[in-house]
Amino acid sequence: MSGVRQFPRKTAAAIAVVGVVGLCAARKASLRNEAFAESPKPCGGPGGPGGRGGPGGRMGFYSLRLESSQQVNDNTKRLRFQLPDPASNAGLSLASFILTFHKPKDAWFPVIRPYTPINNFDEPGYIELLVKKYPNGRASGYLHSLQPGDELNIRGPMRGYQWKTNEFENVNLIAGGAGITPMYQLIQGMLNNPDDKSKIKLIFGVNTDKDLVMKKELDAFEQKFPDRLKVVYRVSDPVEGSPFTKGRVTKELLEKELLGPKDSKTTKVFLCGPPAMEAAIFGSKGWISSQKGVLEELGYSADRIHKF
Ligand SMILES: Cc1cc2nc3c(=O)[nH]c(=O)nc-3n(C[C@H](O)[C@H](O)[C@H](O)COP(=O)(O)OP(=O)(O)OC[C@H]3O[C@@H](n4cnc5c(N)ncnc54)[C@H](O)[C@@H]3O)c2cc1C
Repeated sequence: MSGVRQFPRKTAAAIAVVGVVGLCAARKASLRNEAFAESPKPCGGPGGPGGRGGPGGRMGFYSLRLESSQQVNDNTKRLRFQLPDPASNAGLSLASFILTFHKPKDAWFPVIRPYTPINNFDEPGYIELLVKKYPNGRASGYLHSLQPGDELNIRGPMRGYQWKTNEFENVNLIAGGAGITPMYQLIQGMLNNPDDKSKIKLIFGVNTDKDLVMKKELDAFEQKFPDRLKVVYRVSDPVEGSPFTKGRVTKELLEKELLGPKDSKTTKVFLCGPPAMEAAIFGSKGWISSQKGVLEELGYSADRIHKF
C-alpha cells in the first residue's frame, strides 16, 4: 500500500513489551488492561456502525501517513491519516481507540498515548484524530508537529467500552474539553445506525467559546435527529457577548438535564474529561482520602456510569 507500511516483527514485538509496560504505568485507571487483549473481531462488531474489516482491520502495529492537518483552534488540530487498506475502517467499532507511539531522541522509552478516532466508520480508508495540545505535552506536541506526508506509528484498534445497539433507552454523555472525542464517536455511531433508537443527551463543558470543538458537527446531528439528540453547552469563562450559558458542569445542572430514571438499567451515563472534572463528577479513591462524586450523590450507582 502506498504511503503505509507495517512495522517489522522485531520492532513491533519490542514496542509491544515496552508499550504495554509503559502505558499501564502511565494511564489512568479507566484504561483497563483488557483493552490490550487481541481483538477477536477484525471489524465492526456488535453495535458497530457497519465497519469493514479485512487484513487492514486487524489489531496490529501500523505506520500511517498523515494526509492533512487542520488547525481547529489555538490548541487543537484535526489530523487525517491514510489506512493500510483503503477498503477498511481499521476495525474500529463503538467505542474504540488507538495507541500512538513515538520515541523522542533523548528518551529511553517510547511515548504511548490513547486517542479516539472521530471519523465516520462507514467511510473506509482513513482515520481522523482530534488532538488537543497540552503545554509540554509529549504526545500531543509530537502529533501537532507532524506535517502532511509524515508517518505516525500506531497500535490498534483497541476495544474500549463495547457498545451494544439499544442496550440503553437513555444515554447521557458528559464531556469536558478534549473529552468530547469518545462522545462524538458514540453519537455519530448511534445516529448513523438506523436500528439504534436510544435518546442521547450530551452535556459539554469547556473553558471558553473557542474550545467548543465539533460544534458544527453536533449542530448538524441535532438538526437531523431532533428527537434523539440534545446538546447542553456550559462555558466556564465565556467571551463577551457569548451565546452560551456561563458555568461549569454542576450537580444542579446534571440533576436537571440527565435523561432517564437513575436507578434503571435502561439509563447509562458516560463521562470523559480532565482529571479534576472526572473526580468531581465520578468521585475519586485515594490512599488517604476518598471523594464522593456528584453522580453518586444524585443516586447513580457505579454500574450506571462508564468513565472513558
Ligand atoms: C481512552 C482515551 C482516549 C483519548 N482520546 C483523546 C483524543 O481523542 N484527543 C485528545 O486530545 N486526547 C485524548 N486522550 C488524552 C491523550 O491520551 C493524552 O493523555 C493527552 O493528549 C496528553 O498527552 P501528552 O503526552 O501530550 O501530555 P503529557 O506529556 O502526558 O502531559 C503534559 C502536561 O499536560 C497535562 N495534561 C495531560 N493530559 C491532560 C488532560 N487530559 N487534562 C489536563 N491536563 C492534562 C499534564 O498534567 C502535564 O502537565 C485520550 C485519553 C484516553 C484515556
